[in-house]
Formats: sequence, C-alpha cells, structure tokens
Amino acid sequence: MSNIIPIHFLPQQAMPPIADGFGRKIGYLRISVVDRCNLRCTYCRPNGDDFHAVEREQLLTFEEIERVVRMATQLGVEKIRLTGGEPLVRKGLVDAIARIAAVPGIRDLALSTNAVLLDKFARPLREAGLHRVNISLDSLNPQIFEQLTGGRLSEVLAGIHAAQDAGFTPIRINAVLMRGINDHEAASLIDWSIREQLELRFIELMPMREGMDWQRQYYPISELLARADIIDRLEINTSERQGSSAARYMPVRAKHQQSSHEQSLRENESAPRRPPGKVGFIEPMSNHFCESCNRLRLMSDGKLRPCLSADHEIDLRATLRDGSSDEDLLGLIRLATTQKQEASTYTFESTGRQRSMISIGG
Ligand code: SAM
Repeated sequence: MSNIIPIHFLPQQAMPPIADGFGRKIGYLRISVVDRCNLRCTYCRPNGDDFHAVEREQLLTFEEIERVVRMATQLGVEKIRLTGGEPLVRKGLVDAIARIAAVPGIRDLALSTNAVLLDKFARPLREAGLHRVNISLDSLNPQIFEQLTGGRLSEVLAGIHAAQDAGFTPIRINAVLMRGINDHEAASLIDWSIREQLELRFIELMPMREGMDWQRQYYPISELLARADIIDRLEINTSERQGSSAARYMPVRAKHQQSSHEQSLRENESAPRRPPGKVGFIEPMSNHFCESCNRLRLMSDGKLRPCLSADHEIDLRATLRDGSSDEDLLGLIRLATTQKQEASTYTFESTGRQRSMISIGG
C-alpha cells in the first residue's frame, strides 16, 4: 500500500510560504468575486459595449473559491482580500466571508469596496469574520463624485460611518489622483481623513484600458508631494513602508493632527478616538514596489494572474471543474508563483491591458 498521504488529510497547518523566482514569498491572494459593479468609474471599466461581464456559469462559485483558498494556505498564503467589480453586489458574500474566515491558516481577511452597500452590510460582514475594509473614494464633492462614478456620495459616506460603527479599524480610504479632476481636493481629503480617523492613501492612476486619456489625467505622487498645501500637512521627508505593503506612509504634522482632531471633537463629542495621523502613497507608475510584492490575483472567471501589470494568466476553473485532484490545483498555483515577473511592465507609453481594473479587481 502506498504511504503517500493525500494532501487534504494532512494537518491543516500553513506551510512556510513558497517563493517566486526572485525570492519573494507569496503570502497574499486577492480574489475578485464578481466583475459587475454598481458604480461606473470612468477610469476603471471599458466604455459601454466593450465590457462583457463574466457569464453566471463561468463565475467561480463560492465553494470553488473556498477550495482555492484552502489550497493557497497550503502554500503559505495567510492573507486574503475579496474585491471585484463590487464584491457586495454578489449574493451570498457574507456567507462566503464566514467560510473563508474559517479556513485554517487565514490570518488576515480584507474586503475592497466602494461602500455604496456597506451601510447595510458592515455589521453582518464584521460578525461573519471580516477583519478589515478598504474603501475607494476619490472625491468629497458630490458633483465631482457623481461625474466620476455615476453614484451618490451620501451613500458612500453612510457606508463609511457604518463601517466605523461596526468597529472596523483601521479603515483605509483609497483615492486615485487625477489631474484636473480631483487633484485640488488632496488637502481636504487629508483633513477629512484625520477628522474621521481614517487611513487615507493616494494612488497613481494606471493605464488600464484603451482610450482612457491616461497621459493627460496621470498625476504623479512626486508632484503632489511638492505642493505647499501638502508639505504644510505632512512630514514628507519621513516615509516608511511596512512589510509587503504597496503604500509608503508619511506622518501628518502635529499641528494638523491637533486642529482636525479638535474640530472632530467639536462636531462629535462622543467619539474621541486617537487619529491615525499618517497618509499613504501608492506609486505603481513612478516608484513601483515590485521587489516586495507577495501577491497573486484570482479573477471571477477562475484565471490566476501572477502580476497586475501583465496579461499572462493561468486557468484554474477547468481544473476546479473536471474532477482534478487538489495536487493538480496546487501545481497550478505553484506554477503561477514561478511566473511572476521581476518588475512591473507599465510604462508611460502604456495604452492599456486586455483586462480593465473592474475585471482584475485592483
Ligand atoms: N469596487 C471595489 C472598490 O471600489 O474598491 C473593488 C474593485 S476596484 C476595481 C479596486 C480599486 O481599483 C479601486 O480603488 C479603484 O479606484 C482602483 N482602480 C480602478 N482603475 C484604476 C486605474 N486605472 N488606476 C488606478 N487605480 C484604479
């Protein structure tokens, strides 16, 4: 009799992370659960007819996603982020969170959302075992927000407050900077984030799809950090990156922490929490962080993408559906790891990728 024990009978213990060809340990799987969204952000999805959402029968089921998560933990993945499209538009997400949270070896379970539906879901998500939320918000001006997304700012703000009330902390706000659209709001976003005790991160626009007017709208972080209104607020000479984080952070100057905090106390005397006091910068175009990248990306159609910036993908769906063994699946995940590129292929001449961000998930 063979003395080889099938992998699913082995003790459920996270193995040491596998490394890619460049010595980077892979510990983080981002999973897009759906490529539909309840917002229409101009820079995120292709124009009208160019966008074909994944057909229902081609979407990975939550059972299939859970199986991939179990396999990934066998290879050392400890951190999962669910994204989309908008993950909260997919039915059953709260139950899926509970299932993934229960997978042994998962130490960090996060969600990226536009927060439109968070008012309703924040508490159930927290109770289901979600650890953290990242919320995308590019403008605090209701008109600009509507032009950019087709949505209502008030719904997003209600979602953020629901996440605070549900006890998520820290709550991260991701704002994509765009020239002539929201670059003038950077300082007010910082002040608001301090008052609201949110961890704000600015992200450089990426050339994700054809015809998005990327060159004109791209606003480098270096330009932001040269501005008097930002230098006045941040200690721009002190930046630090933690572990494999995509962001480097700068502390908020003490005078701004105090004034914003005092204002928040005046506005809401019952919530004197300590301000986080830092702002993050994610620079995929001008100062990429590939050397510390520890991610793989699974998309809602079952394709596993080793790198955000490259269109190369490995199909897991067929293997998930044809009765293949867990070993086969593990082999494909390992293969994706070995196929990570050394560095991003985005250039300033890039015009777009086969997939838009709505499909990859960020
Ligand atoms: N719907 C969720 C959300 O809003 O966070 C998750 C998916 S969304 C595609 C993930 C993130 O990608 C958002 O923060 C969005 O702003 C960002 N994003 C989309 N297109 C981008 C681009 N061209 N450059 C930079 N970030 C982009």
